[in-house]
Amino acid sequence: MSSTVLVVGGGPGGASAAFWLARNGVDVHLVEKKVYPREKACGDGLTPRAIKQLLDMGFDFDGLDLHRVDGLRAYAGDLMIEMPWPQHTEFPDWGATMRRADLDGTVAMLAQHQGAVVEQGTTATPITDGGRITSVTLDNGEGERSVTPDFVVIADGSNSRFGRGVGANRRRDFPFGLAVRAYFDSPASDDRFIESQLDIRDRFGKAMPGYGWVFPLGDGEINVGAGLVSTFRGWKDVNTSNILDAYIDSLPEHWEVTEATPHTKPLGGKLPMSLSVGPKIGRNWVLVGDAAGAVNPFNGEGIDYAYETGRLAARYIAQAAAGDETALSGYARNLEDIYGDYHRVARVFVKAIGNPAIMKTLTTVGLRSRPLMEWTLKVMANLLDPQDAGMSEHVYVAIERVVNAGKA
Ligand SMILES: Cc1cc2nc3c(=O)[nH]c(=O)nc-3n(C[C@H](O)[C@H](O)[C@H](O)COP(=O)(O)OP(=O)(O)OC[C@H]3O[C@@H](n4cnc5c(N)ncnc54)[C@H](O)[C@@H]3O)c2cc1C
Repeated sequence: MSSTVLVVGGGPGGASAAFWLARNGVDVHLVEKKVYPREKACGDGLTPRAIKQLLDMGFDFDGLDLHRVDGLRAYAGDLMIEMPWPQHTEFPDWGATMRRADLDGTVAMLAQHQGAVVEQGTTATPITDGGRITSVTLDNGEGERSVTPDFVVIADGSNSRFGRGVGANRRRDFPFGLAVRAYFDSPASDDRFIESQLDIRDRFGKAMPGYGWVFPLGDGEINVGAGLVSTFRGWKDVNTSNILDAYIDSLPEHWEVTEATPHTKPLGGKLPMSLSVGPKIGRNWVLVGDAAGAVNPFNGEGIDYAYETGRLAARYIAQAAAGDETALSGYARNLEDIYGDYHRVARVFVKAIGNPAIMKTLTTVGLRSRPLMEWTLKVMANLLDPQDAGMSEHVYVAIERVVNAGKA
């Protein structure tokens, strides 16, 4: 009898896992608690890494409400630099924005076309015994039923109630982020650059711990958001909505946003970072995406890492489903091989910029040096080419150079 896999959660992590499992001929059933199109607090930003994952799944970029993005415009106060996405041997040189309300259902349908069964409006709860999920209760609002999958992909997002139910926990010594976003009307919605602000001030001119973004959606609206990381000094005393308000008050004029034009109530969420949730595997389950804490600490990007970890998990579960009992531990090892070094550097970086003096030096000196900023963008968006080996040393040298230049 062939193995069955249940995927819990139909965001990027679950949809990607289901897509690649079905592509591998595995019998896969995805359950999503909400019904598409479903809202998700997000900046709606897709880097070239995420575009690559979508291309690999055969995503149709034509005719959809997807807005192509050529690069990043970074501000620190009034200092500004505009950088195109870098050329790379593996990734495209373009990114995009697309509302999660539209994106996630579309990708789940790609999984369905590969043969996955996609069941919406259904919440899954685990029953466990000694590290093994023995059955899963599915509640579709009209009644409950029990299923007994051979393997479970846990892709239920940052709160990960299902993950906690099997014993997964977040490391408290690793960074995590908080962020909030709102949609605004803007005549500049077709701008081809996403924008970030690294120096947000309150109305008294005092620096706030946090950053802001404007991601234009190309349809008359922009996604405006603000966030902070738990390494920032004073983060506990600051509410992300206050950072967003301060940012909106000082948005560059070209967006033509006034407080009179907010389109939606702000929606916020958590960003579990640096693969901080574990264990990543149990006897017959794996964690992917936010449920595994897969967000990149450098830039708060989580969509791509949910696609990537979902795809990687699918590869190892397909092996396990074919009878290799040790296959799941390969998933945990491979996560560490692929992301371990990068996240170690990222944790040092976010700890360093938690110090306002270092942050100020990095931004004011960094934004005056195009080569340094272009290189920093490559590091922060994880777009270094294999020939850019020795990444860790480069990052340390770059940070050191900036800090020293600031002292001069
Ligand atoms: C304000 C904000 C802005 C962000 N901006 C960006 C950005 O611009 N770019 C970027 O790359 N990342 C961004 N992120 C991070 C990104 O949103 C997440 O990393 C990404 O959504 C993770 O995907 P996921 O599939 O792991 O989880 P989710 O997208 O959260 O999907 C989990 C799914 O599981 C479902 N679910 C939960 N419990 C159950 C259950 N028991 N049974 C069935 N279904 C269940 C949920 O309904 C949900 O649909 C942002 C995050 C926040 C909070």
